[in-house]
Amino acid sequence: MKLDATDLRYVSSEEFRVLTAVEMGSKNHEVVPTSLIAQISGLRNGGVNKLLGSLAKRNLVSKVQNSRYDGYRLTYGGYDYLAMRALSKRDSMHSVGNQIGVGKESDIYVVADAEQKELVLKLHRLGRVSFRAIKEKRDYLGKRKSASWMYMSRLAAQKEWAFMKVLHEHNFPVPRPVDQARHTILMEFIDAYPLRQIADVPSPGSLYSELMDIIVRFAQAGLIHGDFNEFNILIRRESGEPVVIDFPQMVSTSHANAEWYFNRDVECIRRFFKRRFRYESSLYPRFTSSAAASDDPEKPNFKLDVVVAASGFSNKEMHALEEVRTSQISARAPSNDVLTLSSIWTW
Ligand code: ADP
Ligand code: MG
Repeated sequence: MKLDATDLRYVSSEEFRVLTAVEMGSKNHEVVPTSLIAQISGLRNGGVNKLLGSLAKRNLVSKVQNSRYDGYRLTYGGYDYLAMRALSKRDSMHSVGNQIGVGKESDIYVVADAEQKELVLKLHRLGRVSFRAIKEKRDYLGKRKSASWMYMSRLAAQKEWAFMKVLHEHNFPVPRPVDQARHTILMEFIDAYPLRQIADVPSPGSLYSELMDIIVRFAQAGLIHGDFNEFNILIRRESGEPVVIDFPQMVSTSHANAEWYFNRDVECIRRFFKRRFRYESSLYPRFTSSAAASDDPEKPNFKLDVVVAASGFSNKEMHALEEVRTSQISARAPSNDVLTLSSIWTW
């Protein structure tokens, strides 16, 4: 989806009030009745209809004709707008540039702050993949699904933000986190190529050790990246140093499947180095010895549940996020999600 910065500037303050009312109404309505939007926004019915019409034309809300009543739903475009407006009100970002990435579960844009300094805006789009799969089969989540996916995207952004902050504070090679709003994260722009695009490195052996060291440092701190591969490792253009990104799936070393996740991260790197650089080493980290070091009082030990709790969401939400992710990875039609998503339907 294209983000149009010019369009954003032309949302009037009344339209913004209406948009915010739709978002607020979504907390307990799958489709927000027009009368409720009027009530929350404190505008007269006639006026609201006109404003809703112009918001719908720009794809910020969509009209839903229900059997019982007519109403509106916030679209991803509207949610993007609200997040960017919050970031720009706080002076964190000023303008939107080009899209540089379309992930499975995110859109990545280069944006700028007021001093024209480039930053990266990551907009989470959780559920995009399985959302389509579900839609083809049957309407599992009914009218509730789009808002639920927005809610899950916000959780993913909050989780990613919490990790990026704690990792950055402990000098892990990750982008500097700048700000977070709704389903988005604003961070430092890394002038780099993803490892995936790199054909040659001066010394594959030393890059290999650097990456394995990062995996071990994570484990010593009680964490496993969980998606440590050539797409999520950026190589700085100038120095050749690696920077790790993409944290919403991080797991604790005390997770029931921790060893499996750890080995998968290690294996991804071994496999990639063998294929791409013809580099193989008999040295690679093992879970037991790496995670055991987390008992060392000198080493930082983040304890994933503590980090997550500090960022303000509960274990229930954490599990819901994990369940959605697991069901997406296994590409099953996630029948369990119906329960999960509706049971956490509170903001
Ligand atoms: P996803 O969760 O969709 O995989 P990522 O966080 O991995 O999203 O980002 C997708 C792509 O966007 C990356 O592979 C990288 O090319 C680019 N990217 C993400 N963050 C940054 C950043 N801080 N600086 C530069 N490029 C980035
Ligand atoms: Mg990624």
